[in-house]
Amino acid sequence: MARGEERVVEELLKFARELEARRVSQETAGFTDVREANELIENDANAFLLGAVFTQGIPAERAWAGPYLLRLRLGHLDVARIGAMDAEAFAALFARPPALHRFKRHMARYVQSAARRLGTHYEGDARRIWADKPTARELQDRLTAFEGVGQKKAAMMTEILGRHFGVELREPSGSDVAGDVHVCRVMYRTGLSPTTNPGDVIEAARRAYPPRPGLLDLACWLIGRRWCHASRPDHGACRLRSVCLRVGAE
Ligand code: SF4
Repeated sequence: MARGEERVVEELLKFARELEARRVSQETAGFTDVREANELIENDANAFLLGAVFTQGIPAERAWAGPYLLRLRLGHLDVARIGAMDAEAFAALFARPPALHRFKRHMARYVQSAARRLGTHYEGDARRIWADKPTARELQDRLTAFEGVGQKKAAMMTEILGRHFGVELREPSGSDVAGDVHVCRVMYRTGLSPTTNPGDVIEAARRAYPPRPGLLDLACWLIGRRWCHASRPDHGACRLRSVCLRVGAE
């Protein structure tokens, strides 16, 4: 790796470790602005899993509030009872205005499917997914077995579980950055990835920091949201302004 790229990686890792030390996981102080919703995610592993399923096509802060809003609507967040509900009745409840998600039918199916899988495979407790200290790769594979959870959500969850919840992984080197639009843009503009293609970006992160590629994820995501906007990036204020290799590039 060229010296210029090394400097970018060093600054990203420095930022990532600061975020880890402060237990920052989102742009906001917690997962979401709603205090009760945040407490639910912090204290209930099933809510964390379902919240991660919600993170698609809407702002992250709104997605993480999903389990709390669902609990308000149902009167509980019991995955056995959610899984046992009639699918049409659950979808109707989910879609009742204001709908719990922009993609109401798909997301209702993913959430109910996740609740059922927790029951059939993990005795209704998401903590059992990672209780045996899996490798990062094993954990990501277990998470992508949930309907509606692809590489992006699984990589994000793996990182949050380690960084924020202190879940021990036997081997973190199999972690990855999420193929998220902000992460891809920052990895490309900083010169670490040759393109914004998620496959290239994931490979670039593996080359950049083999011991734990996923550590770069949150740093890139936050830089993308705060400064490295798709249009009119704020180079002058950006955390990477002194090391970025493509300042001003598209
Ligand atoms: S310096 Fe500019 S191009 Fe580089 S990451 Fe920051 S905002 Fe993006």
